[in-house]
Amino acid sequence: MHMQNIVVLVGGVGGARFTRGLVSELERRYPAAEDRPRVTAVVNTGDDSWIAGLRVTPDLDSMMYTLAGVSDDERGWGLRDESYRVSAELEKYGVGWPWFTLGDLDISTHIARTSMLRDGMSLTSVVEKLTARWHDGAGLPVRLLPMSDEHVETHVEIDLGSGPELVHFEEWWVKHRAGVPARRFVQVGITGASATWEARDALEQADVVLIAPSNPVVSIGTMLAVPGLRAALDASAAPVVGVSPIIGGAAVRGYADACLTAIGVETSARAVAAHYGARRDGGLLDGWLVGEEDAVAVPEVEALGIRARAVPLWMRDVATSAALAGDALDLAQGVRDSAG
Ligand code: GDP
Ligand code: CA
Repeated sequence: MHMQNIVVLVGGVGGARFTRGLVSELERRYPAAEDRPRVTAVVNTGDDSWIAGLRVTPDLDSMMYTLAGVSDDERGWGLRDESYRVSAELEKYGVGWPWFTLGDLDISTHIARTSMLRDGMSLTSVVEKLTARWHDGAGLPVRLLPMSDEHVETHVEIDLGSGPELVHFEEWWVKHRAGVPARRFVQVGITGASATWEARDALEQADVVLIAPSNPVVSIGTMLAVPGLRAALDASAAPVVGVSPIIGGAAVRGYADACLTAIGVETSARAVAAHYGARRDGGLLDGWLVGEEDAVAVPEVEALGIRARAVPLWMRDVATSAALAGDALDLAQGVRDSAG
């Protein structure tokens, strides 16, 4: 198979680490830049919000900062070498979300984005402009596309003792650390939203589609629920290969387990594959990578009609992420070869 166009569906941190590995693996496999496949990432925007009058897009920014090489990997979000003077002042005014601290440099990204949106640009165009400045104006090695240009916000129904209420996803995730049970997720605005033309076109042109090890409910699940996106995926001739975000029955980094519980899916690599479903049965997946610790799940996943492999799934650094991305590409190649 000649791979020219690779599309990866991503959320924030898990997606960013995986995509950074994919870039590194492609540089290794295709040393000449002109031979290298192009990578397009379709990014979840369901965690977006308006904070202190600014449009904040956490998953797009995790992708942008990571691929620009300026992310704070230890903390897991935002920029390295940040200061928090503006947030401290905003808190004194009682403006913003005190539990969602924005760094000073990060705030300039949000100001730039908001100003472009106010000028009437679509989010897709704004992202194109924001990503162009990095690497001394060469831009990012990956094209970032928001799933939709319309504003979609994931809200969570919780009960803090005075009856059910809906709060923004980030309030549940960051302020409550997903410690209060989620009763359900509501994607506010999704019925009026649509997948962008650019995202649908990227899927149509794709030779391979990869589903990053992102949160299956609030990152990948939200994207699949955007009208038009799932249909574009289903129509694609490209093999669709996913990477499990669950290793050894646990959500590594974060609380994906709390999200899965809320939608009645067990926290296991096999259950997430079953939730996504086999492509031949109208589901999402042709292939699925599970961790070596979950090797017993391989025949179970294959019994669902999804080709499976057990590989090292921990993305500790660029090298381990690159090896994982290589395994995903190889599995996609295998799917393609066996399809003839
Ligand atoms: P978020 O939007 O920042 O929460 O990021 P994503 O939705 O992209 O990804 C979060 C998910 O990535 C977590 O729920 C984990 O299950 C998964 N994840 C994080 N680190 C790793 C890793 O090293 N390997 C794998 N396979 N999954 C990971
Ligand atoms: Ca996110």
